[in-house]
Amino acid sequence: DKTPVTLLGLGAMGTALARTWIAAGHPLTVWNRTPARAAAISDEGAGLADSAAAAVAANTLVVVCLLDDDSVGEVLAGTDLTGKDLVNLTTGTPAEARSRAEWARERGARYLDGGIMAVPPMIGLPEAGGYVFYSGSRELFERHRETLGVPAGTTYVGRDAGFAALHDVALLSAMYGMFAGAAHAFALIRKEDIDPASLAPLLADWLVTMAPAVHQTADQLRGGDYTKGVVSSLAMQVAGTPTFLSTAEQQGVSPELLSPYFELMRRRLAQGGGEEDLTGVIDLLVRGPDHV
Ligand code: NDP
Repeated sequence: DKTPVTLLGLGAMGTALARTWIAAGHPLTVWNRTPARAAAISDEGAGLADSAAAAVAANTLVVVCLLDDDSVGEVLAGTDLTGKDLVNLTTGTPAEARSRAEWARERGARYLDGGIMAVPPMIGLPEAGGYVFYSGSRELFERHRETLGVPAGTTYVGRDAGFAALHDVALLSAMYGMFAGAAHAFALIRKEDIDPASLAPLLADWLVTMAPAVHQTADQLRGGDYTKGVVSSLAMQVAGTPTFLSTAEQQGVSPELLSPYFELMRRRLAQGGGEEDLTGVIDLLVRGPDHV
């Protein structure tokens, strides 16, 4: 028998989640602030609750996918969470997740926080590669692993309820760095007779080729020796930065996305990190400018 699920929140993401549970044969009870969205999913086979409290009362496993942490507090305020397995797939900060976990514990619920690494069209399509980070109650995760695995892959990252949000934000932060680099690359060719569509595959392949460098970074961070396995020294890389800045100037492109990273590289070099590669930059970020 398939575990029954209650789902609060039928926005773009909640609706995508709901459809996968219906398709997989899980009895689903839904509620949404704007009733029309819940009615649409009800037509597709879900049970419709007329209040959040009724939806929560219907099943042990309660999944919420709302706009933000404030809306989670509002929606769950009048519900009885005693004995519930509460899974919060609403994006938030680690601190919000930790206090929401404590809040749920005080109300007698087990709590699992989730960070969705997918956009709605990837939900229910395992081959699309989307998944959800989970953290918090290990028992809840193990008990509902199969049900939670219906919409997307599951990756449990620890009992600290904040860790799913932290992993989510860490990966998305790295993604923005990548997009920033790609924006600069496209800007460099913008005024030339170069088809962006001819640069795109080169760019995509290069980023994929370079991405495994993060394993060496992790290895150096764990071992504490930032010179281990270095191929391109920081001294050499800093010496190359004028080429990047001059090329940007020649192409009429602002260096504002590259300059902050180059500045950190120069500071680490000035501290004596010339034989390292780029790992020392991380320590500058963590300590903050006042400590350098
Ligand atoms: P939508 O804006 O499409 O939906 C928001 C949902 O929250 C709706 O159900 C809305 O209800 C409800 N809501 C908002 N405020 C309140 C409130 N005060 N009280 C009750 N309900 C409220 O967002 P998504 O579905 O796209 O996103 C949901 C969560 O999933 C977010 O935390 C988002 O960050 C996360 N996420 C989304 C991704 C995406 O690409 N869409 C990707 C990864 C994570 P109503 O219908 O009444 O407005």
